[in-house]
Formats: sequence, C-alpha cells, structure tokens
Amino acid sequence: MSLIDSDRLLRRLPKTRGRLEANAPLADLTWFRVGGPAEVLFQPADEADLGDFLKGTPLDIPITVVGVGSNLLVRDGGVPGVVIRLGRPFMDIVPEGEMQLRAGAAALDVRVARVAADHGIDTLTFLRGIPGTIGGALRMNGGAYGGETKDVLVEARGFNRKGELQVLSNADMKYTYRHCGAAEDLIFTSALLRGRPGNKDEILAAMDKITESREATQPIKARTGGSTFKNPPNQKSWALIDAAGMRGYAVGPAKVSELHCNFLINEGGATAAQIEELGETVRARVKAQTGIELDWEIKRIGIALSEGGAR
Ligand SMILES: Cc1cc2nc3c(=O)[nH]c(=O)nc-3n(C[C@H](O)[C@H](O)[C@H](O)COP(=O)(O)OP(=O)(O)OC[C@H]3O[C@@H](n4cnc5c(N)ncnc54)[C@H](O)[C@@H]3O)c2cc1C
Repeated sequence: MSLIDSDRLLRRLPKTRGRLEANAPLADLTWFRVGGPAEVLFQPADEADLGDFLKGTPLDIPITVVGVGSNLLVRDGGVPGVVIRLGRPFMDIVPEGEMQLRAGAAALDVRVARVAADHGIDTLTFLRGIPGTIGGALRMNGGAYGGETKDVLVEARGFNRKGELQVLSNADMKYTYRHCGAAEDLIFTSALLRGRPGNKDEILAAMDKITESREATQPIKARTGGSTFKNPPNQKSWALIDAAGMRGYAVGPAKVSELHCNFLINEGGATAAQIEELGETVRARVKAQTGIELDWEIKRIGIALSEGGAR
C-alpha cells in the first residue's frame, strides 16, 4: 500500500493564500533529477502566509523545506507530508545598513554575490561558487574559496514548526563545517549578511576567477548534488575516494565523477536508490581501505520505494 495519500492530507491543511499541489513531482526541482513526489508541495504567498500555514498545520504532519535541490537526494518513494519551497516572494536582496544586505531565503547565492559586488561589498564573493539559495546556505553553512556563511551572517530570520517567528544571531546558528546546530525544524525566510568595503571591479574579477576555477574542476553542468561527503578532519574526501579506486565506479547510470570523485553523477535514467547505493559502496570501500567513515554532506530525504512510497 502506498504511504502517500495526498487527498487525505490536503483536507487536514489550513487555508492559504499560497499554492498547494498534491502529489507534486520533485525530481525536476533537484540537480540530480531523481526521486518521487511530495505528498503535498506548498509555496507560500509571503512570510505571513508561511507563518499562518505552520500555525494551522497539525504537528503530526511532517514538514520538509527545500531550496533549489543542489545538495539534495530525494528518494524514489517520495516525501510524505508537506514539502515547502519558497519562491519569488522570498527572493529580494536589499541593502540594510553599512555594508549589509538582507537576502530572502529563496535568493540564489550567485545573485547575492552579484548584488554585493554592485554595492562595493566584498567578502560575499565566495557565494559566487555555490549554486544554491540563501536558505540552503544558512542550513548547510555553505562555503567555497576560503569563505563560508558563518563568516558573513549577522542574523537569520525564520519560523519554527509552530509558526513562531525566530531571529537567530550568528552564535545561535551553532555553525561548524557544513553544519548548522540550530533547531532542525526552522524554516529560514531571510538572512542579514555583512561584508567589508571593496572595489567593484576587483570583486567582479575575483568572481570571474571563481567561475573559471569551478568550470575546470567540477562537473557543474552534470546532474549531481555537489560534494557528496564532508571532508574528514585534515583529509580530502575526493583523495580518499580516489585512493580506494572508486573514480569512475558506477551503479547503473549512477557514477562517481571522473573529474571530481567526491561528486556523484546521474548519467541519465538513474534512480535515487542507485545513487544512494553508489554512495554507500564508496563509503564502505573507503572505510575498508583507510578505516575512515565518510559522512554524507548531501541531504537525503523521503522514503525508498521498498518502504511503500508512491509509484
Ligand atoms: C555543482 C555543485 C557545486 C557545489 N559546490 C558547493 C560549494 O562549493 N560549497 C558548498 O557549500 N556547497 C556546494 N554545493 C552544494 C549546495 O549548492 C549547497 O549546499 C547549497 O547551500 C544548497 O542550497 P539549496 O538551495 O540547493 O538547498 P537544498 O539542496 O534544496 O537543501 C539543502 C538543505 O538545506 C535545507 N534548506 C533549504 N532551504 C531552506 C530554508 N529556507 N530554511 C531551512 N532549511 C533550508 C534543506 O532542508 C536541506 O536540508 C554544490 C552543489 C553542486 C550541485
């Protein structure tokens, strides 16, 4: 029996000014292009609508938030409960105070870097290297090219599962490498980011360098989830994977990238189960060879088909 019963769930959800879609495909909302549907997909009309929706949604209904799915593996059976995706109303990027920008959680990191450059704000340049949203950067402590979110965050704003507005300081986010220790149920709606004064042309030149370097070293046009595993202390995951002989290893059309072997690629037609099996095989081989356990950086959400998900 399918665990996904969207109509029953829709009847339990509060009225909203936003958009509710039952049995909504998620694969095209992720970089891997795999996975089953959301039982219900919710796109709030604005921040107040999101807060009211959360307040009115019974607490036993699971809620999952996604950005643009650049760090996400959605399992083939889909995601039970409500999946929230923030859209256009959460994309604004506006100056707020000296050398600061307020960016909506759905704003692309790349756009934030660009607006920062336009305002002569340095230090947000690293965001050029991350193909996600500000919401994803807040949750992942996204970082690249020597900078990370924790270096530039003044405060994050969002709701908890009960729909209560929360404003978190940088310290409240309890950041470590690619990890945010703030409560798991938080749905971020915006961030206040601070940089240092810089020269627009120099910032743009630094951004161009980041673009060049990424194109040369990462399969950025592939169906991928970016770095699959976190780097263990004083080690590089790609080097451990390479040394374990896994460069180019494949499970069906799911393959370890030849270009950057901490990236897994869907070469076309892979299932989420194949990508996950490939990742687990890599972990097992690295563990057998070095004793080191790689930790998934990619977030895996939803249920496998074998657990009774939607077909
Ligand atoms: C080619 C490629 C290169 C990459 N390079 C880098 C890199 O250099 N550095 C780096 O750090 N990452 C990199 N990544 C990974 C990814 O881009 C980042 O983790 C990014 O921050 C994820 O943002 P997203 O919007 O895609 O989030 P998603 O992948 O959709 O979600 C990731 C996590 O964030 C949570 N989340 C998303 N939005 C919100 C919100 N509004 N409130 C609360 N939680 C939220 C989700 O629940 C999930 O747990 C790369 C990925 C790819 C595909």
